[in-house]
Amino acid sequence: MKALVKTAPGPGLELCDVPEPTMGIDDVRIRVRRTGICGTDLHIASWDPWAARTIKPPLIVGHEFVGEVLEIGSNVHDLQPGDVVSGEGHVVCGRCRHCRAGRYNLCANTVGLGVNRDGAFAEQVVLPVTNVWHHWPGIDEEVAAIFDPFGNAVHTALSFPVLGEDVLVVGAGPIGLMAAAVARHAGARFVVASEPNAFRRELALRMGATHIVDPTKEPLGDVQRRLGMVEGFDVVLEMSGNPAALRDALANMAHGGSMAILGIPTDEIPIDVGTVVFNQLTLRGIYGREMFETWYKMAVMLQSGLDISPVITHRFSYRDHEAAFAAARSGDSGKVIMSWVD
Ligand code: NAD
Ligand code: ZN
Repeated sequence: MKALVKTAPGPGLELCDVPEPTMGIDDVRIRVRRTGICGTDLHIASWDPWAARTIKPPLIVGHEFVGEVLEIGSNVHDLQPGDVVSGEGHVVCGRCRHCRAGRYNLCANTVGLGVNRDGAFAEQVVLPVTNVWHHWPGIDEEVAAIFDPFGNAVHTALSFPVLGEDVLVVGAGPIGLMAAAVARHAGARFVVASEPNAFRRELALRMGATHIVDPTKEPLGDVQRRLGMVEGFDVVLEMSGNPAALRDALANMAHGGSMAILGIPTDEIPIDVGTVVFNQLTLRGIYGREMFETWYKMAVMLQSGLDISPVITHRFSYRDHEAAFAAARSGDSGKVIMSWVD
């Protein structure tokens, strides 16, 4: 089969012919139809220090996908060939304290699809059935392909109550864009998206942000005055990984406010802990999804009118993977989709 492979340490990915993956009795073989490109894939392709530490080539990359079940293991009873499915990209151990308590998202032995095991940028992928999500018939295939990052957005945006609250989304990359849509859907009053890139700011408005701000031009304090806010932001969704942006957000929160931090910084970020103490703030780190509670919420929010499709801005065949990766890297894009069927 065709697959996009990190063949050796160093920059680049190669489209290769590789053997079809083998499967066990608890596994599901999936014909991949569409995939989304994630920042993680860009890091692996460019071979940054994180990738050099983490990735053991040869590795098929990619973890955002939708496909069709081809084959089920003998222990699998609740899926059939032809079912449309996506996969939760974090494969957990099932044996640690948290797994045994049902808190799979806290498993410290998590193995990442397309990071620590062969991934989904291929014509086929094999996953344990416990990681497979069965979509409802007729779901938009492109939206189904990005359930994994949509789940990051949902888990972060719903970490704290947003009904009637003023929400600041820091960083309108694909995940921040979807989080803005979710916060609005969940009843926030203001959803302010702070983003230096003009293309993404405009996209944030289309996704449901009520206001946008260019942090290089307008301080958050001015934004609050412009909106007539008197308390500061109740909920901050940190989706940039940018040190200055995180500190700025911290300084503009309401007393008792909460910050959910998804953005991954490249270095340590010094913050004013005094502000956290005296303003009685809550900071929460978010990694991945709350597994299938998040997947359930994603499905029902889409079925109740949430529309995340504007986040998808570019489409390519897998054969044009270099152009697809360039579009994702450019910043003038939302989600970039690669098709594995045409
Ligand atoms: P992205 O890199 O496309 O988005 C980050 C955005 O932040 C960009 O649009 C960038 O222009 C913007 N930004 C840069 N400086 C800023 C500033 N000073 N103020 C406001 N915005 C600024 O990434 P993404 O795919 O949307 O993911 C968002 C973040 O979440 C990334 O840091 C990514 O690494 C991280 N991530 C975390 C998890 C997790 O499980 N914790 C999962 C996936 C991605
Ligand atoms: Zn575990």
